[in-house]
Amino acid sequence: MARFKRILLKLSGESLMGEKQYGIDEKRLGEYAQQIKEIHDLGVQIGIVIGGGNFWRGRSSETIDRNKADQIGMLATVMNCIYVSEIFRSVGMKTAILTPFECGSFTKLFSKDRANKYFEHGMVVFFAGGTGHPYFSTDTALVLRAVEMEADIILSGKSIDGVYDSDPAVNPDAKKYDEIDINEVINQRLGVIDLAAAVLCMENHMPMYVFGLNEENSIVNAMTGHFAGEIRLAYLYDNGSVSLVTGGSVNGSIIDAQHDLVFSEERYDSSAYSGPYAVLLKDVPVSGTV
Ligand code: UDP
Repeated sequence: MARFKRILLKLSGESLMGEKQYGIDEKRLGEYAQQIKEIHDLGVQIGIVIGGGNFWRGRSSETIDRNKADQIGMLATVMNCIYVSEIFRSVGMKTAILTPFECGSFTKLFSKDRANKYFEHGMVVFFAGGTGHPYFSTDTALVLRAVEMEADIILSGKSIDGVYDSDPAVNPDAKKYDEIDINEVINQRLGVIDLAAAVLCMENHMPMYVFGLNEENSIVNAMTGHFAGEIRLAYLYDNGSVSLVTGGSVNGSIIDAQHDLVFSEERYDSSAYSGPYAVLLKDVPVSGTV
């Protein structure tokens, strides 16, 4: 029996680009589709939020009005969702796209009841268009929808390989965190998720599992805890507390019963490690990366 019945998965816009500099890499989307189908086939209800950064971000323009720039960003997320939804359909999944504003017949207007109906019909539900308001991000939309839809957990897929104190693309001395809690994310204004989203997570006790999307099979791995390779760490939410899972490959799952997992207080030095990692952001003093 799946431990988590309903998850909200975020795919950053950037991650859709694959090897490209802009737009969408269909090969990458195909890989995501297969992985998400695998998770869906386990009986998990999956909501998807996608960013727009592969096309446009509100702050991309220094010229036009911010409200309009953000509207373009929100429309970019709708384009992404339509595209990804079609790729998902091509591998046999049923999908629906909901937006917080009317997009004619392209999407349906978001309501919790409507989304629940789609979930009950076995559809993967895309929450496109962000919150519908400027000055927000898709991270905030992600947490908002997760709270509204009473998701068990958020899985936030990133294109960078960990949680840093500053952007490693900009600052070569950026420090990579081995553990961090949501309050620290807020207090230090860390960019792993934006501040409004982090506060919403904290206030509503919504767990968020952050993982890197670039490794093979990373979405399934994030859900199942099965990482290929040598040392892996994952902090998992376990009956209200968080434990460190260790092992060559974790024989268990964040969606299945936790009894198979090997829990340990042991810590590994992960500073030299650059493979798949997992971080859980929660309002308890934990989380880990490798
Ligand atoms: N956006 C917005 N309100 C929202 C969500 C998104 O105005 O509720 C706009 C904003 O301009 C943002 C863009 O849409 O820059 C794309 O979203 P985001 O930057 O979160 O995408 P990501 O970085 O995850 O690809």
